[in-house]
Amino acid sequence: MRPILLFLLLALPVASADGKLPLKPLPKGKVAMVIQPHHDDHTTDYGMGGLIARFVDEGYDVYYVRASNDEKDGPHGYPRNDMVNYREAVAAAKVLGMKKVISLNWRNDYMNPIPLNELRNQIILLIRKYKPDVVIGHNPWEHYQKNPDHRNVGRAMAEAWWMAGLDNVLPEHKLLGMEPHQAWYLYGKARLDWGLGQRPNIAVELNAEQVRRKQTAYETHRNVYANPASARAYKAALARENLHVPEWENIDDQTAAVMMEEWHMDWISRQRGAQAGVRYAEDYYFLDEFDYLPGLQDYLAREVKRR
Ligand SMILES: [Zn+2]
Repeated sequence: MRPILLFLLLALPVASADGKLPLKPLPKGKVAMVIQPHHDDHTTDYGMGGLIARFVDEGYDVYYVRASNDEKDGPHGYPRNDMVNYREAVAAAKVLGMKKVISLNWRNDYMNPIPLNELRNQIILLIRKYKPDVVIGHNPWEHYQKNPDHRNVGRAMAEAWWMAGLDNVLPEHKLLGMEPHQAWYLYGKARLDWGLGQRPNIAVELNAEQVRRKQTAYETHRNVYANPASARAYKAALARENLHVPEWENIDDQTAAVMMEEWHMDWISRQRGAQAGVRYAEDYYFLDEFDYLPGLQDYLAREVKRR
């Protein structure tokens, strides 16, 4: 029996009678590839820093592909934003335990007119080079995604996930010694703070240490998050309502900003955990090699038993 099928049999997500989201163990494998447009997409509150930390903890080598140059994210002008955001992406990837950041450097927020085939071909090449068992990124089918980089990179990623395993796609890669490679598993995330997002089909449980690393990685992106200005803005808004946060008395704005981000990350990790009946989790739209055979999945979910 192929290991991939064995994993499926042992780890079928079973919809629980109480309506909670099924908890899915990680697949057995060695390599995961996170494919996202931006420097910070791997650590954001709506996914996926906890999942990455857990893959690392379970022995995976994890690579981060940053498709854009992030020139528009931050206050420093295009060249410096690109440099600072790349540096912070590398530092955050290290916090989570990732191996490497690979930048494709397409222009930030200008991804609508770029040739989708070219972006897809770059990702196929990376999948064939690094041979991931798992690909992680934005769900290209999520609703109301208004960021063009998220839409286009998600779409190129999903197409490449499928096409990298096909013999007749980019056969010239064989001249470079690269063979077709099928990554069997896809974890898609969505921004649920925008419109409908997606309907997740699994939850991944996190421990407190994985949530802490996710928080730290997020705060590492100081060019855009957890800076003193954000704390000052919140303090001013509260003061207008004659409110204050006791924990923020006698601490500087930088510390207050970090504290605020940690509260938010803890809160959202608990929200996701509550969906699955555990303390901390993230949720995803998960696909595997049998996603086109839902009848088989239902049959296996009903009939397969552990010995
Ligand atoms: Zn992004």
